Amino acid sequence: MIDYKKIGLKSGIEIHQQLDTHKLFCNCPSLLRKDNPDVIVRRRLYAAAGETGKVDVAAFYEQTRKKEFVYQAYSDTTCLVELDEEPPHQINEEALRIALRISLLLNAKPLAVTQVMRKTVVDGSNTSGFQRTLLIAKNGYIIVNGKKIGIPIICLEEDAARIIKQTDKEVVFRLDRLGIPLIEIATSPDIEDPDEAKMVALKIGEILRYCKVKRGIGTIRQDVNMSIKGGSRIEIKGVQEPRLITKTIETEITRQRDFLAKHKKIKPEVRKAEADGKTTFLRPLPGAARMYPETDIPLVRITKDMIKESKKNLPRIKTDIISDLEKQGINKELAKNLIKKKRIDMFNELLKLKVEPKIIAKTIILVPDSIKAHYNLTNEQLKKITEEIFVLVLEAFKKNKITKDAIELVLLAVCKDMPVDEAINQYKKLTDKELEKKVRYIILRYKKKLTKGEMPEKAFLGLAIKELKGKASGQDVAELVSKLITKFIKDSR
Ligand SMILES: [Zn+2]
Repeated sequence: MIDYKKIGLKSGIEIHQQLDTHKLFCNCPSLLRKDNPDVIVRRRLYAAAGETGKVDVAAFYEQTRKKEFVYQAYSDTTCLVELDEEPPHQINEEALRIALRISLLLNAKPLAVTQVMRKTVVDGSNTSGFQRTLLIAKNGYIIVNGKKIGIPIICLEEDAARIIKQTDKEVVFRLDRLGIPLIEIATSPDIEDPDEAKMVALKIGEILRYCKVKRGIGTIRQDVNMSIKGGSRIEIKGVQEPRLITKTIETEITRQRDFLAKHKKIKPEVRKAEADGKTTFLRPLPGAARMYPETDIPLVRITKDMIKESKKNLPRIKTDIISDLEKQGINKELAKNLIKKKRIDMFNELLKLKVEPKIIAKTIILVPDSIKAHYNLTNEQLKKITEEIFVLVLEAFKKNKITKDAIELVLLAVCKDMPVDEAINQYKKLTDKELEKKVRYIILRYKKKLTKGEMPEKAFLGLAIKELKGKASGQDVAELVSKLITKFIKDSR
């Protein structure tokens, strides 16, 4: 076992998820095609010195390969925007709204005004030589296993063209993917062990499924950033599924530790995740991405009304509901059942009665199941237990009119057509005096066996509790029996 704290593992993950809308800066469908393209364009890209006067290391690396870029397109589902022959259109409003919803679900603060930026991309996957991206929200977080994982920024950006073929001389890209809206979610390097990284990815994935995102292979991509003490920052691109994240990080830790053991230097680099959890070298880590404002597109405003509208329709995430319920003393199984049987709203309504939450949950989930199974009730009969009945029964329990055990008996009677007030009355809790009288009476019935020592106190107690079920709490009966029986046996000697 590796002590991840000791080796100083720091990791963050980055998720790119395609949104299920038309393209971000034109109205083409976000449609990946398998048939033959009818438009082919050939281009070459040169790395130019940026404003700092230096050629970016990644740009230089790409240029040394001196490749030609071939772009495949479809005249009916791609347009001149993807080919960079026409300026981008206004941002897709639906994509913006989905990005806003995701941001709010990640507890982030949306920006009031934001600007589309150009991020230099030199591998040819963007016909313009840059990727358009805009910051949507900042300072978000999620809670995973009680730990807060920061999500400093959430961006909306355009997906790149996809590689179809690559040789020494050329790279063939298809433009059908270029421009599909992507939400980019990056966590802080708060992750301290490989399993935690997987859970963070799963949680973000769960949140995304509540929004209009594309589903299936290739629609979500996970990258991992990581470093250990004495090592360097490594970016691992394209981990295919969350369960592979753990293994990928573990494998990379082993690789770096082997390097460190041999006193070899670890260079910061970008590596590619393979399907077996291993990684291979992809390219040197590029310098901080240079960003320039996209002057073809006006500033994007996220209005208060848009935020208000989004907040109104915000769903609650299942795992959040479950952990809230667990905090109220309800076990996971019961919590899941409340969701599955769609009784969360009813549960929340009944909480107003100020009855212990666990008893409410059991009453509305386990009790109906139990009486159905034990007394062979039909669904028709069970339907007689309405929310109103639950209110009346739980109120009676709260006011100490009936015991916890009587709840089931009262509900059963209701299913069998007894009016609820009558049922509550029938299983009314005994007063102390009435209870003592009943217990004395039961003792008298077993007088012979008790005095002869043929019946142990424990067996007698079992009988008494059964007989008084629903009319007194087991604890009250036990206390009384223990008090009365000792006295009775003493007196009878
Ligand atoms: Zn287009």
